[in-house]
This record gives sequence, C-alpha cells and structure tokens, in this order.
Amino acid sequence: MARYTGAVCKLCRREGQKLFLKGERCYTGKCAVSKRNYAPGQHGQGRKKVSEYGLQLRAKQKTRRYYGVLEGQFRHYYELAEMVKEGKTGENLLSILESRLDNVIYRAGWASSRAEARQLVLHRHFAVNGNTVNIPSYLVKPGDIISVKEKTRSLQKFKDIIEVNGSRPVVKWLEVNNELFEAKVVDSAKREDIDLEVEETLIVELYSK
Ligand code: SF4
Repeated sequence: MARYTGAVCKLCRREGQKLFLKGERCYTGKCAVSKRNYAPGQHGQGRKKVSEYGLQLRAKQKTRRYYGVLEGQFRHYYELAEMVKEGKTGENLLSILESRLDNVIYRAGWASSRAEARQLVLHRHFAVNGNTVNIPSYLVKPGDIISVKEKTRSLQKFKDIIEVNGSRPVVKWLEVNNELFEAKVVDSAKREDIDLEVEETLIVELYSK
C-alpha cells in the first residue's frame, strides 16, 4: 500500500481527533479538528453505530497514521511487540513505534511533524552514536545519543525549526540539549509517556483473530 499523500487533515477528521500530521498548524486555531470534528465527506455527520471490528480497525488505522507507518511495517512492529517477554503487547507496540528515529527527531523538537522528520533523516541530517543514519524506521534504544550533523546546525531552516518547536514539551525518556545539538535516549517510552489517545488493546484484538 502506498504512503498517503492526500490532505492529511482529513485523516484527523476521520479519526475525530488531532493526529498532529501538519506541523506548526496543528498547534494553532487553524486545526481542522478544532473547527469540526466529524468525519469528512457528505455522510461524515451521520455515521451509524460502529461494530466491534470497526472499532478495532479504527484504532489500528489511527495509530498507523499517527506514526506515518505503512501497513506491512505496522504488522512487523506488532510481531516484534508480541516477542517481547515483559509487559503488554499493545503497550510494547506503542513503545517500539516511539523508538523510530523519525519519531525521536519529532519528539526532540527538531522537526515540526513526523513527516518532516522523515525527510530530514532521509537527507542525512542526523547521526546515532556518531554514525550517520538515513533510515527513518531505525529503532533507537536506551543509551543511544542522537545528534544533529555539523553542517545542519547552521542551516537557517533548521534554526527556524528549533525556534518554533524548541518550546514543545519533551518526553520524559529523552534528554535534549539544544546547545550541544544532542538528544539522549534515557529510557524506553512507557504508555503514560505517550500522548496518543487510543485503546491499544483493540489493535491486539484485531491482530489476534
Ligand atoms: Fe490538520 Fe494538524 Fe489539525 Fe490534524 S492536527 S487536523 S493535521 S492541523
């Protein structure tokens, strides 16, 4: 399945909540969900009661879209989560998704959205433990240090991004030092650290069928 390239605000309206897909605009009154939080399309306001399967599907789609992950990749992360011996599969799934490098760059305030973070990673603007990584799906682990490449630090575009996003609250499991252009992963993300409103158990139920 191809990556979705349409109007991303429609995806938030479809899920009835903010998925923060458009960067700066998501944090302003211009957000489409703030204005009307029903699904897009002419039947958006008159939706019928959703079946159990429908709820499970929506939980999966919402999570997949929030992290900008394709169907096959998402299934792969679920299989990884199932293999983790400790904790609950749904929570482990979210923790794995949080550890994607593009998400970490976004969480550090070094990109306005996960989509922008993905582009920046692809263009080789970051290193993990001193080695350039251009794979947005790279999974970081506690102890890893992510840094902004030397050349990138002086780019006006990057300075503007930090100025706009630097004040966003940073998650507990990440220590960001914007003077050193470094972020250290101090822990794996716990469920209470993840602000996505989703019942992850519904995803587990869907894939357990
Ligand atoms: Fe659009 Fe962002 Fe609001 Fe979603 S959260 S509807 S992407 S502005």
